[in-house]
This record gives sequence, C-alpha cells and structure tokens, in this order.
Amino acid sequence: MNADQIRGSNNSLEISPVRVGVLGFGGLGQAAARVLTPKRQMLWVAAADHQGYAYNSQGLEVDNAIATYNSQGSVGYLQPTGRLSSNSIPELIAAASVDGYFLALPNLPNTFMASVARQFIASGWKGVLVDAMKRTSAVEQMLALTSELKDAGITYLTGCGATPGLLTAAAALAAQSYAEIHHVKITFGVGIANWEAYRATIREDIAHLPGYDVETARAMSDAEVQALLDRTGGILELENMEHADDVMLELAGICDRDRVTVGGIVDTRNPQKPISTNVRVTGRTFEGKISTHTFTLGDETSMAANVCGPAFGYLKAGIALHQRGICGLFTAAEVMPQFVR
Ligand code: NAD
Repeated sequence: MNADQIRGSNNSLEISPVRVGVLGFGGLGQAAARVLTPKRQMLWVAAADHQGYAYNSQGLEVDNAIATYNSQGSVGYLQPTGRLSSNSIPELIAAASVDGYFLALPNLPNTFMASVARQFIASGWKGVLVDAMKRTSAVEQMLALTSELKDAGITYLTGCGATPGLLTAAAALAAQSYAEIHHVKITFGVGIANWEAYRATIREDIAHLPGYDVETARAMSDAEVQALLDRTGGILELENMEHADDVMLELAGICDRDRVTVGGIVDTRNPQKPISTNVRVTGRTFEGKISTHTFTLGDETSMAANVCGPAFGYLKAGIALHQRGICGLFTAAEVMPQFVR
C-alpha cells in the first residue's frame, strides 16, 4: 500500500463516520461521549454500563444519556433506545452495528478487561477495540491474547489513555534523539472536583498505595474510600507505581522496563492539577552527551481530555489498520494516533 492509498483509507472516514461504542458510562465514558459530539469522522451510537445499554444507529444524544444515567443509574433507562440488562456487554455486541469500541470500564478485578476482550472474541464480532488500562500485569494479560485477537479479526490497542498512552507515546518519540535511554520518568498531576465522578480511577489509584492492592481497593465501600480521603485531605500521593508504560516501552524496544518510573499526585477535591503532568526522557546521544527531553501537558487540560482524546486518536489509527487487514494487539507506544476531526 502506498502513501496515497493510506491517505485514501484515512479520508474515507470523511464519507461514512466510524460508528463508535463506549463501554462504561462513568467519568471517562461520559467525557468520551462529550468529546465525540462535535466530531464528523466518528458517530457515537452505543453505550453500556453495568445495568444496561443503549443503541441508536443514527447516534445517541449526549445530554439526554448523561441526565438519564445520573438520575436513574443506567443508560438502559433511555427511551426508546435503552435496554436494562445484567449482561449488557454481550447483549450490546450482539444488538449493535459498531466499528470500534472505547472500553472505559473499571479493570476491577485486574482480569476484568481481558475477560471483556474474550467476550468480543467469542462473539465473532470484528472491529477495533481501545482501552486506557494502567497496570503492567493487566496489559500483559492482553498481550497473551494477541494471536486470538488476530484470528478473530480484531485490532486491539491497549494502554491508550494519558499514562499509559499519550505520555508513553511522547517518550517513544523523545527517545529518537538518543543512542541509549537511561530513564523515562512520568509524573502526573490530576485534579478532580469529587472522587465520585471517577470511582474506578480513584479505587485503582488507592490500590497502588502501600498496604493496599487491587483486591483490597476493590472491596472498599464508598464510605471507606471517603474515610481514607478524609485522612489524606483528599490527596493521593503515588510513587513507583506498577504502570504499563514500562512494558510498553520495553516491547517497543526503547528501554528495559526497570528504567521507567511512574508516580503522581491526585487531588480529589480540586479540579486544578496539584502539579504539572510531564514525562522526562534522559539518554545519551551518539556524541556521548547526556541530556533530558521534557514534555509537559498544559495545566488547563483535564484527565478526561488527556485520556479520551488519545483513546479516539488511537481508535482512528486502529480503524486504518483494520481496513488494511492488520489485526492483533498493539500498544500506544508502537502506533501513532491519528487526529479525529
Ligand atoms: P467509573 O467508576 O466512573 O465508571 C465505570 C463505569 O463502568 C460505570 O458506568 C459502570 O456502570 C460501568 N461498569 C462497571 N462494571 C461493568 C460491567 N460489568 N459491564 C458494563 N459496564 C460496567 O470509572 P472511571 O473513573 O471513568 O474509570 C474507567 C477506567 O479508566 C478505569 O479503569 C481507570 O483506571 C481508567 N483510567 C485510565 C487512565 C489513563 O491515563 N490510562 C486515566 C484515568 C482512568
């Protein structure tokens, strides 16, 4: 395929928008629907949460969907397109015509997203899947599904949020100046007005604190999470996290995983970031100079903007791969995201 043909398959998105589904309709799922609203190249047609799903081939209406979810607890109550179901994901896959899904689901337990990928494989559905998973061990489970995804005709892009995702990709790009990479240091600042808007994100972050793991964080009641946040003044300080940026950069051939470190500060009571999110890539040039590239996100950009934007950029890139018959598993560090108009 030559460059014009690749551009051609990219431009074909102008003619018929990619039909997109969002699985999980909490903080990120709702933001994802809002991000898609002004887009011409993508049309949001499907959503699922743990109590139901909604599908409209002509497009779902975002304000109505969010209002229904917030007042009644599920998009399954949307009239006339919603359905209540305790098995919403397999039912939606069977009912809907969707080209690609963004999986904005909690990965609780740590095996949940891999089990969702297996449901897609078992259903016979073909298309593009994108997740924003964070843990190394979770991405490794997805890597184990590479050949099954390929045989099923699914192009799966994993680790495509902010970190891992945008910052991992920035590190892969920054690495090109060097002959050897010494250290990739990711530091994130997240500010959200209240933790209830992003329950899974906060529980998964608590799982990185000393004395906690995924299972203890998952088992915490909302009151227990609230009590923990009361003790810390709403702040979570995280260091040396098990974050898949490490395995993704190792797989992309950039550096060994032990040279990648991730930490950050989350303020659950203030939408302003407590610190600027950045990635610092230190290496040695071919001339023997040691230097550091720093890529810093604008403080005004929210977690939701920095996760959902890249997720759909990778979804668009995944559609281009899928149209060329390229299936299997890819990470955010090995594919360049495309910009969705
Ligand atoms: P949330 O708790 O706000 O919402 C989760 C949604 O998933 C809810 O709508 C819930 O009903 C739905 N759900 C739960 N179980 C389900 C099931 N079995 N079937 C169908 N739907 C189900 O979650 P959130 O805070 O938006 O986080 C979503 C994910 O995004 C988390 O795993 C988080 O770690 C990840 N995340 C990644 C990054 C990144 O940079 N990579 C950043 C932030 C969050």
